[in-house]
Amino acid sequence: MHLLTPVKPGVATVVSNERCTASRKSSGFVRHLALDVSGTPLEGAFLSGQSFGVIPPGTDQFGRQHKLRLYSIASPTRGEDGSGKILATTVKRTIDEHWESGKLFLGVASNYLCDLRVGDKVTVTGPNGKRFLLPADPAAHDYLFFATGTGIAPFYGMIRELLGRDTGSRVVFTMGSPYATDLLYHRELTDLAERHANFTYLTALSRERQLDGSPPMYAHDRLARSADIFAPMLESPRTLIYVCGIAGMELGVFQRLAERLSEPARDQYLRVDASARENIANWERRMINKELHPTRRVFLEVY
Ligand SMILES: Cc1cc2nc3c(=O)[nH]c(=O)nc-3n(C[C@H](O)[C@H](O)[C@H](O)COP(=O)(O)OP(=O)(O)OC[C@H]3O[C@@H](n4cnc5c(N)ncnc54)[C@H](O)[C@@H]3O)c2cc1C
Repeated sequence: MHLLTPVKPGVATVVSNERCTASRKSSGFVRHLALDVSGTPLEGAFLSGQSFGVIPPGTDQFGRQHKLRLYSIASPTRGEDGSGKILATTVKRTIDEHWESGKLFLGVASNYLCDLRVGDKVTVTGPNGKRFLLPADPAAHDYLFFATGTGIAPFYGMIRELLGRDTGSRVVFTMGSPYATDLLYHRELTDLAERHANFTYLTALSRERQLDGSPPMYAHDRLARSADIFAPMLESPRTLIYVCGIAGMELGVFQRLAERLSEPARDQYLRVDASARENIANWERRMINKELHPTRRVFLEVY
């Protein structure tokens, strides 16, 4: 970790910058940005699941250099190129309205990254992150991955890592998004699922009917709606659960686990204090790590 720091950063070169939403009609703008880090200490030294830092050029309103922002690595450990020279991320443009003035606000780093052209240079740091990783022996486990938005980034790397290494692990990935037009890497993931019998790709659309016509749902609702897929995996001691995306989504996953599993099965993933055992529907995010204790088989990265 931290081979490159804000004091001693490195310079990467853009090799591609492409839209990765399912349709031009998406309400968000998300891009798959690939950077060549060869010749920097990052080359061959990052793992899928880690993130890296970007220091945007220029200064903030106080004249200070812009602060570093973190972006998840969306590549397998061997990189996009197979030899750890090219890492990618999944960047969503932050577009907001200033609360008081009502003026348009464009996020500094995300819009800088989304505007980059092939050949442009980027100041990078990292790698960061030592917990949200695949285990040391990936073949010893099966995986339930849940994502919303750019939370897909680490999974896009991990899925390709697991399938590429032929671990034989069972991998079920659930992507939650408001509309089908917002799905990310949809074609690529559909192709992977068609080619690998051990990989299942599920979507959960929260503001419109599902692709098969069934009613709207959140990513965590898949635990109930696709119980035939999830129930046997949740009972298995091999299974690990990973959740990445919008802060709060992990609570929904915990609630469904508590509702659907017997206490011993639930305890494999989540220990619940006696004070919280009733009223699962009223659980709040602030209870996590106080009354709700995810076990070592649960990995969270929410932001
Ligand atoms: C571990 C980790 C991994 C991450 N991975 C990814 C990833 O893979 N992809 C991704 O897209 N993001 C990722 N992020 C988020 C990313 O780090 C940035 O926070 C995000 O891109 C927004 O940065 P920005 O510079 O564009 O926005 P900023 O300029 O930092 O603005 C962020 C928000 O602050 C508010 N704000 C700040 N200044 C003003 C102002 N002057 N007026 C009005 N409002 C203001 C706005 O609400 C704005 O939406 C990750 C974060 C973490 C912690």
